[in-house]
Amino acid sequence: MPIRAVWFDVGEALIDETREYGTWADWLGVPRHTFSAMFGAVIARGGDYREVFQHFRPGFDLGKERQARFDAGIGEYLNGHDLYPDVRPCLQALTDAGYFVGVAGNQTARVGRFLDELNLPCDVLATSEEWGVQKPDVAFFDKLAAVSGHSRDEIAYVGDRLDNDIAPAAEAGLFTVWLRRGPWGYILQPGDPAPTAVHLPDGVPSLTVGSLAQLVAELTGNRGAP
Ligand SMILES: [Mg+2]
Repeated sequence: MPIRAVWFDVGEALIDETREYGTWADWLGVPRHTFSAMFGAVIARGGDYREVFQHFRPGFDLGKERQARFDAGIGEYLNGHDLYPDVRPCLQALTDAGYFVGVAGNQTARVGRFLDELNLPCDVLATSEEWGVQKPDVAFFDKLAAVSGHSRDEIAYVGDRLDNDIAPAAEAGLFTVWLRRGPWGYILQPGDPAPTAVHLPDGVPSLTVGSLAQLVAELTGNRGAP
C-alpha cells in the first residue's frame, strides 16, 4: 500500500533541542559543553537521558525543577527559532502532495500549546500527555493509527530515536522513517552491542534519511504521490 499519512515525532525531528538543553545546563550551573558531553555519554551507554541530570545533581527531580524554572519565569518554551529549517517546507510539500500530516511526540500539554502556535501545516497535532500514553509504549502508536484513520501500512512515523520511535512504531506495523539527526540519530547504530542494542523487527518496511528534504524527495519522487 502506498503511504498516505506521515506522522512526525517532535524532539530532534521537528525541534532542534539545542537551546532547551543549553538552558538546562545553565539551570544546573554546568558548562553547556560539559552537559552535552555527558548527554552523549549517557546515550552511548544505552541510558535514559534523564540520568544526565543525576550525574550533575543526584536526586534531581525533573518535574519539580520544571516547575521551579516556570516559577522563576524561565519555563520551557518553543518558538519558530527552534524549528529545524527543513520542517515547514517538508510539511507543506507533503500537505500539497495530498498526504495526511500529523505531529505526535512525548511532550507535555503545555509544550503542545507552544507547538500549536508554530502554525505548522498539519492535520493533527497531539502530545503524549493529552493522549495519556507515551513512547515507547506500542499503545502510543495504536492511538496514532486510530486518530489517523488510515490502515497501518499506509502510515509512516518519522523519528530520531531507534529505541523510542522506530522499534515500537515498527512493532505496531507502521512504516518507519529514521531521521538521523540530534544526539540519538548520530550516536546509536542498528546492531550496536548491548547495552545500546535496539531490536528492530525483521521485514518491516523502513527508510533512513538525513533530512526532511530527503524524506520529501523519497515520498513524492521515488515512491510516488498517493
Ligand atoms: Mg525525538
